[in-house]
Amino acid sequence: MESPINRYSRHTLLKVIGKEGQHRIEHSRVLIAGLGALGSLIAILLARAGVGFLRIVDGDAAELHNLHRQILYDESDVILGLPKAQVAREHLMASNSQIEIEAVAEFIEPHNVERLTSGMDLVVDALDNIRTRYLINDTAIRRGIPYVFGGAVETVGNVMTIIPGVTPCLRCLWPDPQAVDGHPRASTVGVLSAAATAVASVEVSEALKILVGRKDDILPGLLVMEFWGNQFQIVRLEPDPGCICRTAVATAHRK
Ligand SMILES: [Zn+2]
Repeated sequence: MESPINRYSRHTLLKVIGKEGQHRIEHSRVLIAGLGALGSLIAILLARAGVGFLRIVDGDAAELHNLHRQILYDESDVILGLPKAQVAREHLMASNSQIEIEAVAEFIEPHNVERLTSGMDLVVDALDNIRTRYLINDTAIRRGIPYVFGGAVETVGNVMTIIPGVTPCLRCLWPDPQAVDGHPRASTVGVLSAAATAVASVEVSEALKILVGRKDDILPGLLVMEFWGNQFQIVRLEPDPGCICRTAVATAHRK
């Protein structure tokens, strides 16, 4: 096998990453929250990019209706019925044996979110429900961990990158969790596979910007992509002064 230096040459050749950026990537620790459509591609790309430590978390097993978009799993994985986290780790290690991957076959809940986010430099969202996203949002802000939010349903995808103390957060975007609970979900209205993988790809791009220390280059708002109607826009947001992402920072500064 070629030396590890050559392995990442197409990234180190990039001016925006370079050898210094790649070194940072290899010494980074990232939580991937969810291993469905988004998490599959995010995990594949971050593992192949050489992120030094990946904690991959999902409590589900692969099912047949997952396969059209969840590209980490095969028909044999559905038959075996093993946890996605375990199956994903095996596939990912086959693509890059030089990184460390911790597979956690659990759903993210209030009782384990502190443990799962502990020691992480970044959280990348590949979840399928808003309640867990709020849990991750609030935990990331409290702990000062950057958080890349992404979601896809029907033919629409959203991405927003949250830097605690700097950018607006999910609660600035959707202050009322009850209202968001009524949003359509892929399990009832479907999702275009290409919309999901495109969202995941943008999330990886945002993740790498943060890992190499180029936070000024992140998305300047909520990216909204409508793949069937060909509409792509960035919605700029202001932080809500009453939001926890403001008050948590103010409290931290007073200490
Ligand atoms: Zn906020």
